[in-house]
Amino acid sequence: MRATLSLIALLLGLLSPVTGQADERLRLVATTGMIGDAVTLIGGDRVAVETLMGPGVDPHLYRQTRRDILAMTRADAVFWHGLALELQLEEFLERLAAHTPVYAVGEAVPEAARLPAGDFAGQFDPHVWMDPGRWRHVVVAIRDALTELAPAGRDAFAAHADAYLAELEALDAYAHEVLGSLPEGRRLLVTAHDAFGYLGDTYDLEVVGIQGISTDSEAGLARIEALVRLLVERRVPAIFVESSVDERHVRALVEGAAARGRTVAIGGTLFSDAMGPPGSYEGSYLGMLDHNLTTIARALGGEAPPRGRLGRLAEAPP
Ligand code: ZN
Repeated sequence: MRATLSLIALLLGLLSPVTGQADERLRLVATTGMIGDAVTLIGGDRVAVETLMGPGVDPHLYRQTRRDILAMTRADAVFWHGLALELQLEEFLERLAAHTPVYAVGEAVPEAARLPAGDFAGQFDPHVWMDPGRWRHVVVAIRDALTELAPAGRDAFAAHADAYLAELEALDAYAHEVLGSLPEGRRLLVTAHDAFGYLGDTYDLEVVGIQGISTDSEAGLARIEALVRLLVERRVPAIFVESSVDERHVRALVEGAAARGRTVAIGGTLFSDAMGPPGSYEGSYLGMLDHNLTTIARALGGEAPPRGRLGRLAEAPP
């Protein structure tokens, strides 16, 4: 028996001249960084994950490159968000689904837990990763999809997912603590686009995006003027730019408020639809949210440790 196994191993080695050994890992493609991070953590050494959208990339506007098409066509499975987040990829992924397993993991969040997108019936706010409690559903969906693709990994995937879910619980507790410390009258979060609805819903903040749920429409002058009035009337101390969205609208608000004699600070850059640099703490889902929560709490007058929940943030927000 052992001899037979060695022979098979030898043959597999001969068949894979590039690596010298058979690579039995699942070749997976993820669209957003947040999904790629979860698939990598839960899949462990049984997966090789390629993430299409890096730091600063806006998923609402992202269009697949020739290289992406090749990667997705060759992959064992593709994980995407759905809920109309990657609007430009939808058509391609629907066609791909005819011959490759394709998982819209954002849609694992039950309809009752989704927020509506504007006035359109049946359309939902896709930014579910902003609430660790809702992101749980996505983690579980990824665990189940990986188990379906590689049943032998069942126990490993379950153990990795459990560890991740425990981290999400700790992150949620931290969010309650630091956002709960914001004084009344300071619980208004103004950002570049409407990515923080789930954060506001879960932790009792009023959220206002200068652009809407998607970044594909411009904010008009009337919108800017209404928001400047809001900043002045509500004495908002700080508003936020986002790493994946043009900051000129945020600057226009700061200048508009200054013209009315009111100083509004830029409270920092939030990671809304893309994570930080790969390999950094902020380049992980847990680090991205820690950065956001810590930055928001400190800029709006709440209390949070300068380097975040685990003391790992690269720089202390102001
Ligand atoms: Zn967005």
